[in-house]
Amino acid sequence: MTQPRISTAFDSGAVDVVSLADQRDIQLNIRPDNAAEFAQWFHFRLQGCAGLPVTMRFLNAGQSAYPKGWEGYRAVASYDRQHWFRVPTSFDGKEMKVTMTPMAQSVYLAYFEPYSHERHLDLIGFANEHDNVEVQCLGQTLDGRDMELLVIGEPAEGKRKVWLIARQHPGETMAEWFVEGFLERILDGDDPVSRKLLEQCVFYVVPNMNPDGAARGNLRTNAAGANLNREWQSPTMERSPEVFLVRQKMLEVGVDLCLDAHGDENLPYNFVAGCEGNPGYTARIEALEEAFKAAWLATSPDFQTEYGYERDAKGEANLTLATNWVGQEFDCLAYTIEMPFKDNANLPDEEYGWSGERSKKLGAGVLLPVLAVVGKLR
Ligand code: ZN
Repeated sequence: MTQPRISTAFDSGAVDVVSLADQRDIQLNIRPDNAAEFAQWFHFRLQGCAGLPVTMRFLNAGQSAYPKGWEGYRAVASYDRQHWFRVPTSFDGKEMKVTMTPMAQSVYLAYFEPYSHERHLDLIGFANEHDNVEVQCLGQTLDGRDMELLVIGEPAEGKRKVWLIARQHPGETMAEWFVEGFLERILDGDDPVSRKLLEQCVFYVVPNMNPDGAARGNLRTNAAGANLNREWQSPTMERSPEVFLVRQKMLEVGVDLCLDAHGDENLPYNFVAGCEGNPGYTARIEALEEAFKAAWLATSPDFQTEYGYERDAKGEANLTLATNWVGQEFDCLAYTIEMPFKDNANLPDEEYGWSGERSKKLGAGVLLPVLAVVGKLR
């Protein structure tokens, strides 16, 4: 018999091994972010268990960042690191248990379909080949990675500035899959929605706001332990250079619409969260929000407005969040987009749950609500 082995020494690899004595009772702990307490993301390779019934117990799941995230959740697995499928998973309030009989000696398990730094660089490279894209490096992260901004379209007087940022929370990999789908469509010269939008807008896209946290296998923070989506009021180059650099660029060029893509651990739906709690929230912004949502509802069955976050009370928004800060600073439409780690309960997929591919489709589809509001942004 082969002794089971687990390894994590690769991009976004993360898990702590407690016991590998018996493949029917592999004991693991979810590993916290490198400099913060948040623990939810895992990604590892299991070897030596082909054809054998495997049970993996995540002993500390009940003490993770979002214990409710494990209710109705199923882990993803892959043999080739390209195709990720869901595997039977249960949660009793304390431990999460994943069971499977691997078909090969090597299988990867993860919280959600990973999006590696190599794939990120390939995405930048894909964009770089297009004539109407300028790849700008805004500066470096604490680990020395480039903060990349894609400027798409010809800047001209009167054109709207539309921002899309993603993955402030690095474990929310669906956010970068979303950007990939968005980019493939906006860079498709035959797509009529893209062509119409590029007549009226310049797009500023940050595919990965947190490349260090992503490579380190963090759920929510950068290399210094900063939750970037709480840094927008007073970022510093020492603690949150990612936000500092992007925010500086926003102040330089302006913002007419901003979308910030995320994943939600708990709710099995796609939804948006807006700026209703901002002190500067007006009927004009509210009307833009409603128009955006209505257009998305009308064009994507994967979007819904019934389930989402509790709305902020008037004037009580947390202005350290990107969406609220941008909406307040630029008096513009700003939305946080949330996708599920679990599945879309309105359109479930037994085999894959919510996935990278479905996130890409949603990202391509978001061009339609943008088109619906672009003439009214100012
Ligand atoms: Zn998030």
